[in-house]
Amino acid sequence: MYANDTVIFTHAKTKEQVAAKLTAAMCKVSDWLRNSCSTLIVSKTICMYFTSRTNNSVNQDILINGEVIKTVAHVKYLGIIMDTHLTFKKHVSKVVRNVKFNLNNFKSIRHQMSLSAANLLLHALIFPHLLSCITTWSQTGVTTLKPVYSLYKQILKTLDKKLRDYHHCHILRKYNFLNFDNFLFYSDVCLMFKIIHGLAPPPLRACLASSGSNSTGRIRTRASSRGDWATQFRKTTFGQSAFSMKVVGKWNSLPLDVTDSGSFAVFKKHLKLWLKSVQMCNH
Ligand SMILES: [Zn+2]
Repeated sequence: MYANDTVIFTHAKTKEQVAAKLTAAMCKVSDWLRNSCSTLIVSKTICMYFTSRTNNSVNQDILINGEVIKTVAHVKYLGIIMDTHLTFKKHVSKVVRNVKFNLNNFKSIRHQMSLSAANLLLHALIFPHLLSCITTWSQTGVTTLKPVYSLYKQILKTLDKKLRDYHHCHILRKYNFLNFDNFLFYSDVCLMFKIIHGLAPPPLRACLASSGSNSTGRIRTRASSRGDWATQFRKTTFGQSAFSMKVVGKWNSLPLDVTDSGSFAVFKKHLKLWLKSVQMCNH
């Protein structure tokens, strides 16, 4: 009997308060483990501070039975590399490395492949790396995302056997693909649909409720005729970049015939059609 990847988290105004809370919680965890005839491997237990403040004060020790646990600046958790300031820079670098590796392989064999085989490879080996957890890490800054945009264009040009300076919008039209901005838009609002319809993990619903909907957690109407979600003003750029903030604006911009789709499959179909109808080249 063992439990892996267990996380205990809390928040407070200062690191001292947070450390005290967690040390107290760990005493209770230790007692519980002892009563359950289990042990905690302290050497494999780590702690991490999250803060939006850049002038970082000294990290406070968190103890388990008098032993200090290691404090880390980043950690891979459920496939995402998280860092102290939630910049996701390390995670994006990893995505870029993985995609580059697969793209280079794709480039070297593309001329020997049929278009359908190339498309298959693209959807099996390249897009999954780009799509995985994208709604989380795409809240990073524009500068961090730049290499991903560039890679997306290179992927399209490799698929269509075009040179680097070819205008990628022609390829988007030719294959009926979304551009990268719309790719992000699509991923975000798909998750929003799942949250609204109870198809996503419940904590995500709480995230959205706190950012706008009324106390019942139901849709609050802005215009009487349509069920828009409301957003709260956030002072910091960091606050504004959060998924719960970005997605509401995107969701409210969708036409009613898209948001009112009866099932997720129908929603995705309507959403893709709408995004492609408004997708423009402004280069
Ligand atoms: Zn263009």
